[in-house]
Amino acid sequence: MRALILSDIHANLEALEAVFEDAQVRGGFDVIWCLGDTVGYGPDPAACIERLLEFELVAVAGNHDCAAVGLSDASDFNDAAKAAVQWTANQLDAGQRDLLAALPMVSVQGSFTLVHGSLRDPIAEYLLDRNSAMGTLALLKTRYCLVGHSHMPFLCHEVEGEPEFSDFPEDERIELGDERWIINPGGVGQPRDRNPRPSYAICDTVDAAIERHRVTYDIAKTQEKMRAAALPVRLIERLDHGL
Ligand code: ZN
Repeated sequence: MRALILSDIHANLEALEAVFEDAQVRGGFDVIWCLGDTVGYGPDPAACIERLLEFELVAVAGNHDCAAVGLSDASDFNDAAKAAVQWTANQLDAGQRDLLAALPMVSVQGSFTLVHGSLRDPIAEYLLDRNSAMGTLALLKTRYCLVGHSHMPFLCHEVEGEPEFSDFPEDERIELGDERWIINPGGVGQPRDRNPRPSYAICDTVDAAIERHRVTYDIAKTQEKMRAAALPVRLIERLDHGL
């Protein structure tokens, strides 16, 4: 089975469509595994949810998804994120709100565990260092863990009980084998690794092999919609820089 792994779409429909197009060219997929933050920041929260629902979908909750439906409070968000959360909440219909509110924090799919942040703190912790990786490996009951939240693509595999981080190369097939891995596919709708191009992964779940790809999209079109919605300028500008 081929799973399309998407994280942090952040209501960026142009980025999402570009990823779909690229994934289809590369052989398509059977299911979407969505690692959370489908909404928040961007101008098309409702459309992004509806688009995902056209496919076989497994999704977990992100902090922005929870905040948009009032399940977690946005008090620790910065002002721009807070403004976007409030705006997002007003864009969703009852069905879309129910869907976000019902998302699980963690989902196990065969050998893969899906979570937005970390297993220790599913919607809040950024898994980026040894300490946070150790915390998740201690709780991980499957061989592989897929995370998002930081919008930073990486690979991390366990070597003699220690997490070892490495770059997640583009367009290269990574065989996961018998080791335990924590993997972040990078962000679709608001990349933060100083590269504005949406990042995503496709996993062959039978062979346990994963590839990461990047695409280009019409950033100006997304930004124009954000301006029309009077979303914070900071959120509009960062899309140019991948920050
Ligand atoms: Zn996010």
